[in-house]
Amino acid sequence: ALLESATLKLSGLAADPLLPVVGAELPAPLITGGHVRYANLDYAASAPAVEEVAAHLNEVLPYYASVHRGAGYASQVSTSVYENARTIVAKFVGARADDTVIFTRNTTDSLNLLAGCVESILKQRGFTEGRSNAHGEVLYLDIEHHANLLPWQALPHRSVVAAGSIASTLARVETQLRAGNVVLLAVTGASNVTGEVLPVAELAALAHKHGARIVVDAAQLAPHRRIDLASSGIDYLAFSGHKLYAPFGAGVLVGRPDWLDAGAPHLAGGGAVKEVRLESTSWTEGPARHEAGSPNVLGAATLARAAEVLAGLDAAQWHEHEQQLRRHLVDGLAALDGASVHELFNDGADYADCGSIGVVNFSVTGYDAGLVAAYLSAEHGVGVRDGKFCAHPLLNRLGLPAGSLRASFGVGSRLEDAQRLIDGVAALLRDGL
Ligand code: PLP
Repeated sequence: ALLESATLKLSGLAADPLLPVVGAELPAPLITGGHVRYANLDYAASAPAVEEVAAHLNEVLPYYASVHRGAGYASQVSTSVYENARTIVAKFVGARADDTVIFTRNTTDSLNLLAGCVESILKQRGFTEGRSNAHGEVLYLDIEHHANLLPWQALPHRSVVAAGSIASTLARVETQLRAGNVVLLAVTGASNVTGEVLPVAELAALAHKHGARIVVDAAQLAPHRRIDLASSGIDYLAFSGHKLYAPFGAGVLVGRPDWLDAGAPHLAGGGAVKEVRLESTSWTEGPARHEAGSPNVLGAATLARAAEVLAGLDAAQWHEHEQQLRRHLVDGLAALDGASVHELFNDGADYADCGSIGVVNFSVTGYDAGLVAAYLSAEHGVGVRDGKFCAHPLLNRLGLPAGSLRASFGVGSRLEDAQRLIDGVAALLRDGL
């Protein structure tokens, strides 16, 4: 019945939002006069909060108190909200029973935290700059967001694989893994530039076959697809609350406890210790080891509520809503003489669970991407992102060194938003600036 109702929606090209989001009716001022409803096509940068998440924020706010540090009633409630959020996140990503869930600031913070742990482990094992890299290398793809590239680039031993088609990417990754030096494979779950999804379970199996672990940057994947650590074999997963329909300021790193417990604490400070003497400290284990300082209880609570809301969606309907919007935009842009859509893989559809999330990367011949984005905003009330998307190596390889444009959808998107973008680009090509 749900599939049927999704199909009904398709036939009317009415594409209602899947869930109500905050700010969906925001007016956008136009230079040419008047206002229109703001067409937010920038979910991949930061998604608006879903209304249920905003309501939860107000529920938790009165109990806003110190976590893990007070015996008072509000402190007890706050602590239990915070720890409950951890349990909800573990369930949301299908974590194994002994996985650790650490609350961080965002994906960038999570990946830096893990890189710190890898660095300490490699040091403990005696691998330093200039020495053998036997089993001490981190391997990543050249399509990564800088958040999943720069922390690894700073380590002594690393290699990069150029992603081609999915088949050739898997083959190249395996060639590197076969050399036997790789300790960790770091890959994105979905490209923030093109929206294409990587076969993370296959990559996890390859990594394990050759004695390595895998970390998946799920900043883009988690807001669009179900993830199951236990069945996919992903060892570590990172994502951000603000892309998951929750407010800014909270992110997550989930994964196997041994490296996290052996790594240097991400921050030195209160809450991360067993015992402190003036000259030395013994650090605690578990999430608290990396969560020194007063935690972001509101961020964790709202991130967890967003996870619950997404987990409650019908997967087929969720997928179809997004695919309908994406197809409409890709077809609409492709029909315009002067607009080009950029993609990376040509074989995504051959892999189950791949394809694309609701992201479309494009450019308009003869126009600077920044100018097109400013025009779409000022003249049509459409918000898109332009630039190099914190993925300079990929943009260079796609032949777009000056950047491109990105439109991205989510649960609050409507078909009319995609149509407004198509109409805006058509008007630009027809009338010029
Ligand atoms: N990884 C990917 C794939 C992203 O798209 C982003 C954000 O755009 C990040 C990492 C970094 O996320 P944050 O800025 O929340 O740390």
